[in-house]
Amino acid sequence: MCQLLPGYGEGGNQEAFFVLELFPYPFHGDRAGPFPSITCQQPSWVELFRLVLPFLARNKVLFPGKQKKLRNRWRKHYSDNPIAGLATHDMEIKPVITIITDPSFSQHDTGGGEHPEVPERLKVITDRLNQGSLAGRIRYLPPRPALRSQLLAFHTEGWLFRFEEAVLSGRTYIDHPDNQVCYESYDIATLSAGSGLVGVDVVEQQPGSVVFCQTRPPGHHAEPNMPFGFCFFNNCVIAARYWQQQYNRQRVCVFDFDAHHGNGIQTAFEEEAGTAYISIHEHPSFSYPGTGWAEDRGLGAGRDTILNLPLPPGAGADQVLRLLPKIRKFVEAFQPDALVIAAGFDAHRQDDMSGLAFTVDLYRQLGKFVMELARDYTEGRLLSILEGGYYLEKLGVCVEAYLTGILETNE
Ligand SMILES: [Zn+2]
Repeated sequence: MCQLLPGYGEGGNQEAFFVLELFPYPFHGDRAGPFPSITCQQPSWVELFRLVLPFLARNKVLFPGKQKKLRNRWRKHYSDNPIAGLATHDMEIKPVITIITDPSFSQHDTGGGEHPEVPERLKVITDRLNQGSLAGRIRYLPPRPALRSQLLAFHTEGWLFRFEEAVLSGRTYIDHPDNQVCYESYDIATLSAGSGLVGVDVVEQQPGSVVFCQTRPPGHHAEPNMPFGFCFFNNCVIAARYWQQQYNRQRVCVFDFDAHHGNGIQTAFEEEAGTAYISIHEHPSFSYPGTGWAEDRGLGAGRDTILNLPLPPGAGADQVLRLLPKIRKFVEAFQPDALVIAAGFDAHRQDDMSGLAFTVDLYRQLGKFVMELARDYTEGRLLSILEGGYYLEKLGVCVEAYLTGILETNE
């Protein structure tokens, strides 16, 4: 039932930690579900005993009924047929937008203080989409948790262990107070990363369809071995890797219009010739996370696969629209098989997470633009994944405008 294994410390290095793993896992094989383990340094029997009892209770191992409930919850999310859910979503009106989301995203608790990455973000989007001009044209699909192997396509095993251990041991943040966690955060981040996988499946089954992953926590700052800027797993990179591995779409391009530079996506792609990353963001001299310089264009074989387009504070629609021909030219030269959009809405002029001044209509124009790119270069293979966007009064209309722009081009 129990086994002691050498554990992993900061940065994935094996250190003098030991991990107590419990068998059987809630799932067998390569499955990223709840994955009980604890660590202690230089374990003694007394220490192990002190740790194990509360740990077993926390994981409901001492209460088999509750454990079964937990297992069923994850089974509900997972299907061997990744798009099995589609057949059950017949609607009288042909749906034109597919939203991948899940009520359990609200369980990722960021502390309830001043933290801007709150569950209400998804609620305001849902409310707006269900009540505004797109009402009746939307179908909802649940995500499935990303498999452990799919997370490892970008992240290190050390980070997976560290993240999981942090939440199981009751920590409230990891590395920096930006990265608030609660007991459920590992599972919810795994589900958030899995949204993109379901999204890729839908696009592959119905090229040209409009698919938006309405997820949290966001992902584009997450690095292979650490969380960063509210992000734990890099949802866009994990979706891109899945597109490559599952459907052999090798040339994946990510376009990121979040107000902040997606440092984690650049890390993933900057040394590769076969993937590309384009980002418009507030200039790193003025904005978090301080990366995304125009001079960074990729390294070695990945030279010229990175296009960073930093904007000065106050930049709005005029400056962004002037950049679109340059982005189009870059995409045309790269010739992608698939396009992933890191769709952040925190550059809106009333969102105080950046000094940029995007308008709601600019998001509509960005929607038109990305769909035109998909139509012209990827045979309609386009997937959008939510990143930032923290001004709750306007987040819903920004997302609505973006999806409307995509539809206008698609119709
Ligand atoms: Zn952002």
